[in-house]
Amino acid sequence: MTTALTAAQRAELGVLLKDRLATLEETLAAQEGGLSRVDAAAELLEQNREDGTQRDADREVAQQRADIGHQELGLVRQALQRLDTPSYGLCLQCGQPISWSRLKAEPWTLHCVTCERTHDQAPAQPASL
Ligand SMILES: [Zn+2]
Repeated sequence: MTTALTAAQRAELGVLLKDRLATLEETLAAQEGGLSRVDAAAELLEQNREDGTQRDADREVAQQRADIGHQELGLVRQALQRLDTPSYGLCLQCGQPISWSRLKAEPWTLHCVTCERTHDQAPAQPASL
């Protein structure tokens, strides 16, 4: 059985993943804490104001940002679980090793550059059938 990564490389990526996990958890906790404080303040203002459109837009942006963060958090957690398995570092789609430079940049990535590119270029769903 061949593994794409050495133990030292896995350890290095493990450190990167744990760093990222801590950063994401901190950021999301701060965002969510901040969001509920803003909501509470806005709730008070709302009693005196009829137009809440801008506030809703702000809240939507914050929510979207949090969603992206949660998504990445899931990927990082998944990667940490797969780190010690032989499949970690291999492309989920084609099974080829993912390049070291790519893993270093995004240790939670699931696909090699080729498959990622193919995926990005996949034709969009036809507008009508
Ligand atoms: Zn691939």
